[in-house]
Amino acid sequence: MSVPPLHAGNIWHDRGWRPASQAPGIVDGRFARSTAADTPGRFIVPGMPNLHSHAFQRAMAGLAEQRGPGDDSFWTWRETMYAFAAALEPDDVRVIATQLYIEMLKAGYTHVCEFHYLHHAPNGARYANPAAMSLALIEAAKDAGIGLTLLPVLYMTGGFDGRPLGERQRRFHHDVGQYVALLEQLKPLENPMLNIGIALHSLRAVPPEAMRAVLATSVARDMPVHIHIAEQIGEVQDCLAIRGTTPVAWLLDNAQVDERWTLVHATHLTGHETQRLAKSGAVAGLCPTTEANLGDGLFPLADYLDAGGCLGIGSDSHISVSPVEELRWLEYGQRLATRHRNISARKAGDSVGATLWQASLAGGARASGLALGAITDGARADLLVLDDASPLLVAREGTDVMDSFLFAGNTPLVRDVMVAGQWRVRDFSHPREAESAADYRRVVERLASL
Ligand SMILES: [Zn+2]
Repeated sequence: MSVPPLHAGNIWHDRGWRPASQAPGIVDGRFARSTAADTPGRFIVPGMPNLHSHAFQRAMAGLAEQRGPGDDSFWTWRETMYAFAAALEPDDVRVIATQLYIEMLKAGYTHVCEFHYLHHAPNGARYANPAAMSLALIEAAKDAGIGLTLLPVLYMTGGFDGRPLGERQRRFHHDVGQYVALLEQLKPLENPMLNIGIALHSLRAVPPEAMRAVLATSVARDMPVHIHIAEQIGEVQDCLAIRGTTPVAWLLDNAQVDERWTLVHATHLTGHETQRLAKSGAVAGLCPTTEANLGDGLFPLADYLDAGGCLGIGSDSHISVSPVEELRWLEYGQRLATRHRNISARKAGDSVGATLWQASLAGGARASGLALGAITDGARADLLVLDDASPLLVAREGTDVMDSFLFAGNTPLVRDVMVAGQWRVRDFSHPREAESAADYRRVVERLASL
């Protein structure tokens, strides 16, 4: 199926604008040079993959901002999150995720990597269909029209010392055999909008022998592999105490970390680890708004970019659902810490906006394990049309458009969104948004009343 011709514009490709006349057309949801494409606005950019999401946390955004009796930290936030997660059933997750995924599309995310760890029933028993929660997320992505890399999470232990999971962690997947069976059940569902991958929750939650066992299975071959790695100083110190080295160094020494891998929250890196991670080809998965919200710390961005490292962005806990805000915070965190400007642009004349958008497209695509993130032959036809009527884009040309898109004002500039050749958002609106918001209200009001 071809998309009918639209009005011509400029296509963002590899750090610059090209006239739409040079752009590929769209056939069966992919860009293809064999047909001419016209586009519906002056500025067309590739849609952004979101490389890290825990969908259910959308419904608790804003509920962990009240100070507790002691010093609040990631670990006190986690208690709030576990209490909230305890009551969720598959249909609740489907409704929350549908709402979230529609919000993502409207913000400019056209694909999401869902790091999914809530598998079992509230009492810890497996559902009649052990994939019930996974299927709820797949249905949500389909209803919203966003691409999905579903990453079921293996979560077995409560610390580097191998202690068993606590009461509030019983809904997680803790058995390697059952986990691999879930991957095998989901794998045949793959299609251009759905990829299945592996998520090892973290080194503290997956013992070394379990990691090796999963990665050695035939179903795991070629799958993307995601892991939370060094988000908190506490876990870095625990790893040092028990394994004699830091989490990133341990992983690089003990697994074949390459382009299949995404290291989420690679926040705390030594200089040597920064170099090694960059050279590995793995993606550093950065979630700047969540990392700020949780008080995690700052990633060594300039050194990593100088070493040629690959990165992408995720909205993680969804206190913000906007690639613009993630990239703004990524740059602003560095400016605040260094008291310098334009940190992401490493050479004179480079644009921060163009550099960050382009880098995050490449890293997000790599993390998703699919051909995405570029308006080029064979890639899935995911694109955003910016609102060229906005005052924010008046008299902007070249990379100033990207800098204004990311750094100017607070009005959304993503007007239309296409995924796999289908319009999902037209004129700032998604066809299912009212219905989804009503369902979401019903579910969250019920959860709040428990
Ligand atoms: Zn996470």
